[in-house]
Amino acid sequence: MLDIKKIRADFPILNREVNGHPLVYFDNAATSQKPSQVIDKIVEYYTMYNANIHRGVHALSQEATDLFEASREKCRAFFNIPTARQCIFTSGNTHSINAVASGAHVFVKKGDEVIVSAVEHHSNIVPWQMLCERVGAHLRVIPVLDNGQLDMKAYHELLNPKTAFVVVNHISNALGVTNPVKEIVAGAHKYQAKVLIDGAQSCGHMKVDVQDINADFYTMAGHKMCGPTGIGLLYGTEEALNELPPYQGGGEMIDQVTFEHTTYAGLPHKFEAGTPNIAGGIALGAAVDYLNEVGMDNIAAYENELLVYGTEQIKSIPGAVIYGDVTDKAAVISFNVEGLHPYDLGTIIDKLGIAVRTGHHCAQPVMDRYQIAGTIRASFAFYNTKEEIDVMVQALQRAVNMLS
Ligand SMILES: *Cc1c(COP(=O)(O)O)cnc(C)c1O
Repeated sequence: MLDIKKIRADFPILNREVNGHPLVYFDNAATSQKPSQVIDKIVEYYTMYNANIHRGVHALSQEATDLFEASREKCRAFFNIPTARQCIFTSGNTHSINAVASGAHVFVKKGDEVIVSAVEHHSNIVPWQMLCERVGAHLRVIPVLDNGQLDMKAYHELLNPKTAFVVVNHISNALGVTNPVKEIVAGAHKYQAKVLIDGAQSCGHMKVDVQDINADFYTMAGHKMCGPTGIGLLYGTEEALNELPPYQGGGEMIDQVTFEHTTYAGLPHKFEAGTPNIAGGIALGAAVDYLNEVGMDNIAAYENELLVYGTEQIKSIPGAVIYGDVTDKAAVISFNVEGLHPYDLGTIIDKLGIAVRTGHHCAQPVMDRYQIAGTIRASFAFYNTKEEIDVMVQALQRAVNMLS
């Protein structure tokens, strides 16, 4: 099992105090903390290898290129992506989704339907609304049940020959509930619809095998899997990526340029216009090494222990209501205490050093579904402990007593 003390020593930020109290960081669904191995890699890159990649013949450029491509290979293996060609570096999960949606007019025609779920992050709603407006397609929504799971009966009823694209997150950032992505993909493929799975919440918390899931596209956020901000990944099948037009034009993504006509570079470069986040890409490889060393199965098992314990403890607070209280979920607990505003509770426990998210979590339609303004969201990572959960629950109790 995990040596949590040793793991915590790898994360320098966990040593700091906030408002005079040891930091309890429970906002991992917004961004994860970074181990020294990742932070050091960024410094090392700028200290030792800083050069532009894929262009120079000089030694530094070659070294930087080799490191960047080695990192791509690590990411490829981590998600079981068949080839490095299909492992595209982007600036983040939002960029990955937009890269697909902006070219998706090749898949979605006038009068077609795009299905999203009612538990999507805004970044997996708005780009598809923009696409629908552009091509004259219609957005359809899979409803969510009271327990936070998707209404799969309704999903299968929504599918029809006009369905051209289905986009769903693997794990909801607002509720933590895991969606049945394999069933969703299989259903869509019966109608030859393309599928994009938003993996921002799954990528650092469970083993993800993109071939097993079998979606046409899968997106990841580097900063939610112990990597830096400003780097993400887009996976696609060769067929889908070849059909998808490039998102941006520029250097690096071309084969031949004349003023009459430009031909594009092959994968993955077709989608990597301009100078990428080289340091970020290399550091993401270090994050993947780190996660592999700890072990994704160990991480998932331990985070589930924290989830079960945290759920029990939060339920012990009188008036606590958890949204998405099911067993098949990530270590994300979205809750309210009856009669109290989540913002007030969040503000008081922040004074005690505890970082949780309050609000709509970039998923306003989810809040509308439950007719609430927002929730408090405590989201755990493998460097958190049960003792920290106790500290949060005691702080919440104190806050509840003060406010009621
Ligand atoms: C974080 C998140 C996003 C947005 O990712 P960015 O890192 O802001 O690009 C999209 N979807 C889900 C489910 C998320 O958790």
